[in-house]
Amino acid sequence: MIVVVGCGVAGLTCAVLLAEAGRPVEIWAAALPPRTTSNVAAAFWYPYGAFPRDRVLAWARVSYDRFTALAGRTDTGVRMHRLLDLYHEPKEQPWWAAAVPEHRRLAPHERPAGFADGFVLPSPVVDTRRYLPYLMARFAEAGGRIVQRRLRSLDEALERAPVVINCSGLGARTLVSDPQVYPIRGQLVHVEAPGITDILLDEHGREGLAYVVPRGDHCVIGGTASPHDDDRSTRPAETEGIVDRCARLDPRIASAPRRAEVVGLRPGRATVRVEAEPRREGLVVHDYGHGGAGVTLSWGCAEEAVRLCGDALPPVAARTG
Ligand SMILES: Cc1cc2nc3c(=O)[nH]c(=O)nc-3n(C[C@H](O)[C@H](O)[C@H](O)COP(=O)(O)OP(=O)(O)OC[C@H]3O[C@@H](n4cnc5c(N)ncnc54)[C@H](O)[C@@H]3O)c2cc1C
Repeated sequence: MIVVVGCGVAGLTCAVLLAEAGRPVEIWAAALPPRTTSNVAAAFWYPYGAFPRDRVLAWARVSYDRFTALAGRTDTGVRMHRLLDLYHEPKEQPWWAAAVPEHRRLAPHERPAGFADGFVLPSPVVDTRRYLPYLMARFAEAGGRIVQRRLRSLDEALERAPVVINCSGLGARTLVSDPQVYPIRGQLVHVEAPGITDILLDEHGREGLAYVVPRGDHCVIGGTASPHDDDRSTRPAETEGIVDRCARLDPRIASAPRRAEVVGLRPGRATVRVEAEPRREGLVVHDYGHGGAGVTLSWGCAEEAVRLCGDALPPVAARTG
């Protein structure tokens, strides 16, 4: 048996890989979709706020390919959109550009007014309302079981299984007493703007972060990123700021009917932790601390986490029926 702790995008992706390889797997998690941080994410592919660069580049590249393949299917909630990555000053190629097969500088006439530079790339947008249930269905189909329970220590899981994958996100702060993990609060607004089909991103605006992400029947607009702030309540003034900033990216946002305001706490960490930790009771593999890029890195990190289990993995289970 393998226990995966956590039922957000990190845990589900690891669990799907293991279960589909024929391993006996249980997910143990305090919160299940739709009540995870992963559900809140705007969830477009973009290596935002995650380190170190060399490993993030490799993980992001793997995930890009996996999501591109999933976007070809209707049941996944993944769709490709053009992403316009906009800048107020001339800008060098971003360090992660090599992860994307088609990444190019925008011609001046392609840039919205007010921007001095920018790039365009196809980016997968993951509708987490559909994608997380899709992963859960794949996991169940492969024989996996989900148990809702909060752990005080990973020892509880190691009593059940010789291999435990720790995908507890922000919960790792207390679960494995990791002082490097901290919340980065983010607020988003959902608006009805059916005509918008491009992702628009202004990460470095003078008044703050702004992005518009088309997601089927609505757009997710953002955002904020407040380190060490774990207040989960929505703030009306932040909503107005988000709408104002995003209306500069596309004026249709100003009058778009608002559907919802949501807050999530990104699992911040100086570096993403994908690492094996052999213990006397068994092997723990960590996969947490993805900051603002947990969806973007999910497949690459999960594939590495599974590799790190190595020889400690139990034998492939015989399937019946
Ligand atoms: C506003 C906002 C916008 C974002 N936009 C994007 C984006 O566009 N693209 C992108 O790639 N990323 C984005 N992110 C980041 C992304 O949401 C996170 O990096 C990602 O969701 C982390 O996934 P996770 O599975 O590690 O954590 P979570 O989704 O938080 O899941 C953690 C799981 O661990 C469980 N758990 C924790 N502690 C315990 C315990 N003690 N016992 C049992 N279970 C436990 C929880 O219950 C939960 O099931 C955004 C985040 C926010 C807040």
